[in-house]
Amino acid sequence: MEVKANCLCLKLADFSELLYLCLMTIRNLSQKYFMFAENILNLFEFNNRFPDEASCLAHFKSERERLGIICKNCGCSEHYWKKDRESYQCKKCGKRITLRSGTVLENSNLPYLYWFKAMHLLTSTKKTFSALETQRQLNHKSYEAIWSMLHKIREAMGIRDSRYKLTDYIELDDGFFETVNAETKDEERKRGRGSQKQSKVLVLIESNPIDPLGKDIKFKHKPNRKVGHVKMIVMDDLQGDNIKAKIAEMVENDTSAISDAYKGYNKLKEVLKAHQVVNTSEIKKAHTVLPWVHSAIGNAKKVLKGLHHSIGKEYLQSYLNEFCYKYNRRYFDGNLFDRLMIACIEFK
Ligand SMILES: [Zn+2]
Repeated sequence: MEVKANCLCLKLADFSELLYLCLMTIRNLSQKYFMFAENILNLFEFNNRFPDEASCLAHFKSERERLGIICKNCGCSEHYWKKDRESYQCKKCGKRITLRSGTVLENSNLPYLYWFKAMHLLTSTKKTFSALETQRQLNHKSYEAIWSMLHKIREAMGIRDSRYKLTDYIELDDGFFETVNAETKDEERKRGRGSQKQSKVLVLIESNPIDPLGKDIKFKHKPNRKVGHVKMIVMDDLQGDNIKAKIAEMVENDTSAISDAYKGYNKLKEVLKAHQVVNTSEIKKAHTVLPWVHSAIGNAKKVLKGLHHSIGKEYLQSYLNEFCYKYNRRYFDGNLFDRLMIACIEFK
């Protein structure tokens, strides 16, 4: 009788736990669904929010004022708005700045509506839009103006990401991206780290071990590490001192790393908390040791190859900035447009 009672208690406990888990799952799913449904900025919503130049200008002005305008001359934060000149005048020293100055729109004659649409295009896809396609979508005569606008937005993305350092545990590797380089166009091609037609990119990605019994159990079907933020930096060379200096710039002091046994990584212990070296040539499946860094490099190459047939070496960083910016904000859904707007206003 006592045994039966225990069994019954156990079953009731199991049942209540199961019920609790089901309710939590439904709640999480519904929250996720509704959050997505509320936040997503689809084409219709974008057109409703920003139907014309006036609505874009009003939003840009309101965001700029919300973020704060500081006079570079005297540090005063109070300004008069001069509507006729689309500019602010400092209440203290009288210095004037235009609505666009200091933002990504400075020195551009393109309408606000163009900038807004370009930001929407770039944030509405995990891939990207070429300048040619954007020019077609905007029906604008000058390819160069559109090309320059997109690169400015990508620069803003890079500046924003450079504010944050990686931390905890990172995977580290170098990737080789196909680029066009006029000087080495006709030389015989080498493969891998010595290749002239491939640009060298240092890739770092946060990759923290998962607690198999903890809250991260939902990731159990993925590699046994949870992926975080990524950084990709185009390097002139992969010399040890240059790699060490770049890593020191991009990670917090308490960061540990795992990498292959490339000799250029020999000095990393000087700037990291710990550095685990794995001889990937002895391991058949290198992607099980460095799963996320290989996945990020593969994804970035696919995105670039899909749209840009030949990338000049000097512009590769710009495209990687866009890839990393969107990768690092992959759970932002529709908020991404608003976040990018902030990055474009706080450009300088
Ligand atoms: Zn002032």
